[in-house]
Amino acid sequence: MKILTASYIVTFDEDFTILKDGAIVFDEKIIEVGSFDYIKNRYPKFEIISPKINSVLMPGLINSHIHLEFSANKTSLKYGNFYLWLNSVIRHREKLIEKAKTSLISQELKKLLKTGTTTIGAISSYSFDLEACLKSPINKLFFCEVIGSKADMIDTLFADFKARLKDAQKHNSKNFQTGIAIHSPYSVHPFLVREVLNIAKEEKLAVTSHFLESKDEKEWLNKDDGSFLEFFKNFLNQEKATTKPLEFLNLFKGVKNLSFTHCVEADFKELTKIKELNATINHCVTSNRFLNNSRLNISDLEEIPFSIGTDGLSSNNSLSMFDELRACLNIHYEKNIVKFSKTLLNSATVNGAKALGLKKGRLEKDFDADIIGFSLPDKIEDIEDIYMQIILHTKYVDDIIIGGEFV
Ligand SMILES: [Zn+2]
Repeated sequence: MKILTASYIVTFDEDFTILKDGAIVFDEKIIEVGSFDYIKNRYPKFEIISPKINSVLMPGLINSHIHLEFSANKTSLKYGNFYLWLNSVIRHREKLIEKAKTSLISQELKKLLKTGTTTIGAISSYSFDLEACLKSPINKLFFCEVIGSKADMIDTLFADFKARLKDAQKHNSKNFQTGIAIHSPYSVHPFLVREVLNIAKEEKLAVTSHFLESKDEKEWLNKDDGSFLEFFKNFLNQEKATTKPLEFLNLFKGVKNLSFTHCVEADFKELTKIKELNATINHCVTSNRFLNNSRLNISDLEEIPFSIGTDGLSSNNSLSMFDELRACLNIHYEKNIVKFSKTLLNSATVNGAKALGLKKGRLEKDFDADIIGFSLPDKIEDIEDIYMQIILHTKYVDDIIIGGEFV
């Protein structure tokens, strides 16, 4: 059993309780959260250190959507237009993946920890990131990704996918769980989606998919037209999309822990369906800014929870969640900065845990003890400002606790 104290304990429980001069008692899970004096009296045999001035403890951040296999990209890819970006990915893919060796990915994972992320939803296209993920103490929901829209390739692709999934599942542990990623409605044949989702439903695996990331995708799916037509003709000899957006969403009925990434072009009907499916939307604001000049309309989501993802370094210049949260604040400029900061940090903790189906994201009894600790540069006058001040002033954290262990 361990006890940590701080000037502010930001719990993200249902009431958004913040304890001034508080303490957390934990082992693998959180045992109790209370005021410093209360915990001191309750555990008299423990030597409990007084809270450090302006110190904060909060749940570790959850990056619900990241691609580590593209960690080698810095200046290779085109931004500003989704279609140009996609073509540049195809041109540079092999070289970038070759460069993203285990050592490079391991370095990025270390940076993730130092910048306060304790859990990731890692989309793995080839399992080239598996070794680095296994070596890191960070919590992983390792999403094995399936891709392929050509009907005559389904059997081969499905067999390859199953082998990769099985191999990853051998490593399932306290901090490593396996899930399924469908690349997107335009790139995976509905028959293949169905087969893969049958596995997810049988084995109760978390599932995620990119969905309506760009206007080009929307035009292709709805009208078999636009820039994707050229792409599909050239690369796959295909002139029609294999599915419509709503048909695609309907395939996911019965999946328990489900998330869709981007959704910037989703309309009312599609959002209603996402709500019906009890899914979370992975919001990757920087990626959308870089590739599409677009953003998710958060006001349209109503009750659909959204979580925060950095996407990969193929469409971001940082994998730090605090950098991403600052970008979120700036890009959604019409939102009140104080209130929206609270919403954002809740998205980066509570909603991230929901997207991945994990009992994390809250400093509350029986939740996993994933905690970060850091200090604010000065006092806070109004306690409701704390969420904003955390986002504005935190680059690195001092303490990282995962599953009750200091890392
Ligand atoms: Zn992505």
